[in-house]
Amino acid sequence: MSDELPQPEQSTFALFAQTAEAVGSTTKRLEKAAILGGYLASLSDEDLAVACKLLSGSPFPLSDSRTLNVGFSAASVVLVDLSGVTANDYHKLVVSMGDVGDVAARIMPASPHEAGDPLLLQEAQAVFEEIASTKGTGKKGILLRNLLSRATPVEAKYIVKLVTGDMRMGLKESLVEEALGRMAGVKTGEIQRVNMLVGDVGETALMARHGLLSTATLHLFHPLKFMLATPVEKPADLVAEANNRGETAAFVEDKYDGVRAQLHREGDRVAIFSRTLDPVTNRFPEVADALLAIPHAVIFDGEIVAYSEADGRCLQFSALQKRLGRKVVSAEVRQEVPVACMVFDLLYLDGVVLLDAPLSRRKEVLASLNLPYPLVMAPTELTSVADLDDGEHEGSGRLDAMFVASRARGNEGLMVKMPASDYSPGKRGKAWLKVKRALATLDVVVTAVEWGNGKRNKMLSDYTFAVLGPERQLLNVGKAYSGLTDAEITEMTEWFKAHTIQDFGRVRLVEPLIVIEVAFDKIQPSPRHKSGYALRFPRIARLRPDKRPQDASTLDEVKAIAEDSQ
Ligand code: AMP
Repeated sequence: MSDELPQPEQSTFALFAQTAEAVGSTTKRLEKAAILGGYLASLSDEDLAVACKLLSGSPFPLSDSRTLNVGFSAASVVLVDLSGVTANDYHKLVVSMGDVGDVAARIMPASPHEAGDPLLLQEAQAVFEEIASTKGTGKKGILLRNLLSRATPVEAKYIVKLVTGDMRMGLKESLVEEALGRMAGVKTGEIQRVNMLVGDVGETALMARHGLLSTATLHLFHPLKFMLATPVEKPADLVAEANNRGETAAFVEDKYDGVRAQLHREGDRVAIFSRTLDPVTNRFPEVADALLAIPHAVIFDGEIVAYSEADGRCLQFSALQKRLGRKVVSAEVRQEVPVACMVFDLLYLDGVVLLDAPLSRRKEVLASLNLPYPLVMAPTELTSVADLDDGEHEGSGRLDAMFVASRARGNEGLMVKMPASDYSPGKRGKAWLKVKRALATLDVVVTAVEWGNGKRNKMLSDYTFAVLGPERQLLNVGKAYSGLTDAEITEMTEWFKAHTIQDFGRVRLVEPLIVIEVAFDKIQPSPRHKSGYALRFPRIARLRPDKRPQDASTLDEVKAIAEDSQ
């Protein structure tokens, strides 16, 4: 009987940290997976579930909305205090090493402040949970201090990475999935499928170990990752992609300028999740009410927009922003900024998972549901592939007319979707293509800010920003005066002041956590920036609080746009 088998001992946090170090020290994927596989196999069930979550970047699974929320500043205070280095030296190290975890490993004393039994993995996890459920930076700081007092330098490195959210940029969940595949002797794809359905890599690991992968089912009210789109620069690329897939037509629909939303409903329960998979149900009570009125269990994918029912069209994103800023959505706010949800996909209906069903089928079933307002099925037009390209007469074709019409309706451009494609959560594939021709934009991360001139001299209004490089590192690509409103700049100034890594007087290096959308006229090669490119006439289009740094545009996207605009 299985309970007679010797159980592995409780594993230490030191072993976790050493494993993460070993994985980080090789660039070979197979070696990484082998190291991880060996480690995971040695753990008890309880430790396995925790280790998989931590290695994927957070003590909490994707489907869990808890966050540690220990800011960089709070962690820095604790590190300075425990290490004895001066704040000045500490900040110099952060700037030169570029990673707070690495700095922690460098400055923390070789033997922990509090010698005693080694820190166990489960103990560390318990403290992470306590930090998440504790309110107030001061109290969180005390918990972190107690934990770090027991840590060796390498343990401190990973504790700091985990509590500041920095792990997310490092070890990828996909690597853990690969290692689990090896451990269980199944294909990585099978692990990925289960992980996507249950939304918890720890639970997935246990199912893999105990041969239960085939029993995995989708859990309603656990958000799935969103399917993403790839930008195309010219219509010919749409045709090439469709031909590649043997499609003769593609769905063309407006690209709405709102916030992405995944809607779940079963019985008397509803939930709305944001692009970052956080629950935002209370912000959109009218959408939640409409969901309740559907006589089905469903998961929808859509975009919530500010909407005028009388005109049957979306309002600008800035209108929606008024509403996003509010904590409480009063009746007045509901009236002032009415919203609708443009539903464009159906992932689940009454016990049937539709992720593998072709988009054409998902759209057909969605249309049959007759959604109650303010749920609106996003109009979509099955357009023949021949009509996707303007050929030599650019600006005169069917697609161009659709593009202009979308812009005239106040929307951002077009989305083109392949009818036979399935729904791939978390993937930025080519089954969905976005056409934002007239307005190329990039999502970039603010890395440094500068005091403005003239009436903006008390505001940090000039931003330097970066895209993601091949190693997910940040590479600066430009600098722009803010195109934001004074109210937004004032609010951001406060944020940047509180999240300054180093203050050079005029310029401040800031924690790279703010994502903004920048528009520009052209991208050109340039030695001025680390990325090797510069944007011509960059303008800040808007803040993207719905995006995290790891969602920013990549150097590859920059290169592709630069090549196209030669
Ligand atoms: P981007 O934010 O530029 O990467 O573009 C992708 C985003 O467009 C998605 O995450 C959605 O929030 C949004 N979007 C707007 N309209 C649609 C649509 N019809 N289909 C899919 N995504 C859409």
